[in-house]
This record gives sequence, C-alpha cells and structure tokens, in this order.
Amino acid sequence: MSARVVVVGSANLDLVVSTPQLPRPGETVLGGDFRTVPGGKGANQAVAAARAGAACEFVGAVGSDEFGRQLRDSLTGAGVDVRGLRTAPGPSGVALIAVDQAAENFIVVAPGANAALTDLDAADRAAIGAADVLLLQMEVPLPTVVRAADLARAGGTTVVLNAAPAAPLPVELLDLVDVLVVNEHEAAVVAGMFSDDPAALLDALLALVPRVVLTLGARGAAYADRQGVRRTVAAPVIDAVDTTAAGDAFTGALAVGWAERGGVLDADAVTDALRWACAAGAACAQRPGASTALPERAAIDALYATTYRGTE
Ligand code: ADP
Repeated sequence: MSARVVVVGSANLDLVVSTPQLPRPGETVLGGDFRTVPGGKGANQAVAAARAGAACEFVGAVGSDEFGRQLRDSLTGAGVDVRGLRTAPGPSGVALIAVDQAAENFIVVAPGANAALTDLDAADRAAIGAADVLLLQMEVPLPTVVRAADLARAGGTTVVLNAAPAAPLPVELLDLVDVLVVNEHEAAVVAGMFSDDPAALLDALLALVPRVVLTLGARGAAYADRQGVRRTVAAPVIDAVDTTAAGDAFTGALAVGWAERGGVLDADAVTDALRWACAAGAACAQRPGASTALPERAAIDALYATTYRGTE
C-alpha cells in the first residue's frame, strides 16, 4: 500500500519573472519571460509527495478567483486528493518570484485565501488520524498548524514540520513535532542562533525537537536526533537550473520516504531516506520552474541509483 501523507498548508499562484540580475531595494531591472505556476509550500509539498508515490491529501484554501480554479486543477492533475480543499471568498494566495541567471531567487508571498484556513472539520481530522505522516509548513495560520499537529499526535501520525518561511516557533508547536526540516537560514531563525557550522545548528535545534533534518543546498543534508544519531548525506552532483522548489521536492519526498520506512527510523533507514530526498531535491533543481519541476518517483529513483549505488 502507498504511504499516506496529509499536508495541511498553503496554495499560492506563483507569478514568476526571469531576470539577468535580482533588483536591489528601490531598483528596477528589465526582466525576461513571465509565467504563472501553481505553488505555495503546502501545495508544492503535496504535489511532491504525490509524485514521489504517496497517497496524498491536501487540506488548504484557495480563493474564489480564476487563480483558485487553476490551483485546484493543478493539485487534482498531480493526483492529490482535494477533499479537504476549501474555496474561500476573495483572492487566492499569490507569490511574486524573481529568478536570476545563477538560479538565485527572491519571493514575496501575499497569503490571500490561505489566511482563511482557520478550522479543521471532521473529515480533516479523520484524514490526519489515518495518515502515516502529517506534513506542515508555516504559511497558514499558526493555530491551524498547531491544531493539525495535535490531532496527528493523538492519532499516532508522525508530524514533519518544514519551518518555512523562517520564524521562531512557539513551544506549543515544537512539543508536537517529530521531525523538523529546515534549511540553514530557517535553522538559524528557529534556533535563535547564527552559525556557519551545521553541527552547532543541529545541537541547538535538538534542544527544541527530537529529530532535525538540515538541508544544505548543493552540499546535501544533515540529520541529528536525541538518540545520538548524526548523519550527513552528500547531494547528487548536477547542473542546477532553478532551485526554487528544491526544498519542497526534498521535504515532500522525505515525508514519503519516512512513511515508507515505517515511521520510527534507525540510522541506516534515516540515511537512505535522506539520500532519496536529496535525489528528489537535486532532480527538481535540474529543471526550470517550481511545481512543474517537482520530480516523479521514477526520476528520483534513477538519480538516487546513479548517485548512491555502491555507497555504504
Ligand atoms: P531550500 O530551497 O529550502 O533553501 P536547499 O537549498 O537546502 O533548500 O535545497 C534542498 C535540497 O535540494 C538539498 O538538501 C539538496 O538535496 C537539493 N539541492 C538543492 N540545490 C542543489 C544543487 N545545486 N545541487 C544538488 N542538490 C541540490
């Protein structure tokens, strides 16, 4: 049976412009092509999990505008179960994204309908309780994130929190997290401590949650838990074209890999799940676009096999 993943999170339409260089504050630069791409960390990670092979349900809200229809169609098209997707009166969430030639980006998000995700109904509660993994981010109202995590904990569902966008996290949420997934910037903000040393960041975060996954871009990912396990996994060596959704690809695949390995993972299983998630992140970074670049399971498996074959 497929891994069951529920995502409670955001859906945004990404309004993307390519540009020779990112503007400084107050500066206008002449960009290149413009395109709209379904996005939002919640929806992206739901699509990532579905493409990675999970039975995935998305609980979220889109607006009553054309963007909302586009977002709903895109989730359905990716095979995500949208029974928990509300349509709220007013605009959908949007993200303004600029990407330069070096594949660096900046992003501004207007939450729109995502702010209307303020309650979870009986069907949402049942879905969370029946899932292997509940995957959360920080783009919908905090009380909803905490409530979802609380329902998961009560139902024995593993809670994976991607603390993005970066923000200090309240203790009431931290206490419900099984696995925290952060990049280096998010790690520093959550830990309240700036350091170039991944080990120091992991130490600080282990004071807050029992297991931490730290993504390190082209350098891969590091893991630590309170049982004393520490692992660093190198990323596949690739030509990065656009890293916009690499973190979402990584996190969605990690949720699936974690669920498929049974929820409570030993050091070897964690290493394997991290490698598979790194393959997903790298496969995403090889392609232009955000959600459109989220890899299918076959692409993840192929990059995983060529990268890690023969490694212990
Ligand atoms: P975020 O996009 O959230 O900042 P990262 O940049 O750390 O997250 O990327 C997430 C994951 O995607 C990394 O852990 C890695 O596995 C993969 N990845 C990202 N950029 C590259 C790259 N240039 N080469 C290979 N893998 C990459």
